[in-house]
Amino acid sequence: MFNFILFGPPGSGKGTQSVKIAEKYNLAHISTGDIFRKNIREKTELGIKVQSIIEKGELVPDELLIEILENAMDQYKEKKGFVFDGFPRTKQQAEDMDVMLEKRNESVSLVLALEVNDDVIIARLLKRAELEGRKDDTKDVIENRINVYNNQTQPLIDFYKDKNKFASVNGIGSIDEIFNNICTVIEQNI
Ligand code: ADP
Repeated sequence: MFNFILFGPPGSGKGTQSVKIAEKYNLAHISTGDIFRKNIREKTELGIKVQSIIEKGELVPDELLIEILENAMDQYKEKKGFVFDGFPRTKQQAEDMDVMLEKRNESVSLVLALEVNDDVIIARLLKRAELEGRKDDTKDVIENRINVYNNQTQPLIDFYKDKNKFASVNGIGSIDEIFNNICTVIEQNI
């Protein structure tokens, strides 16, 4: 199985690229953000629990994540692997993921980061706020999400570099250009 993590700050294009990658390589796309938003829309117990956290741009507690992830993975039996989008976001999540995958005789295959600087991210997210009206796309919450990313998620780069599983591509350019660059790296590793 190809267990692929698409990594990068909020607004780096992970969602857009993940869908294309999943389709091309017959992988299941698992977006923890999408799962949370669906639960919030449907007012499930989980949705009610996480709504205010997400609207502030904070992270959902680690202990909730791994079960959500496993449930999502169990829904796909016929795929050749996964694209993880928005997970892991903390060192604890990355360690929990390794344990969970090991139980399945699997491991993380590759972590690929989309590199985009803060100015571009803020501009993209503010534009998305106009188009989609996501509650966590206001200026203050965007700043918080970027801080949370820098403090809690970015350190994972070293975690995966130490395991020789880390690569990156420029996340600025056209969707197709970036996608082609991602595919080049995937094909060296798949
Ligand atoms: P973005 O990448 O634009 O921040 P996502 O859709 O990936 O958006 O995530 C939206 C929000 O959902 C995050 O700000 C966070 O509150 C929550 N979330 C998503 N994935 C995780 C995760 N792995 N751990 C904790 N919280 C998460």
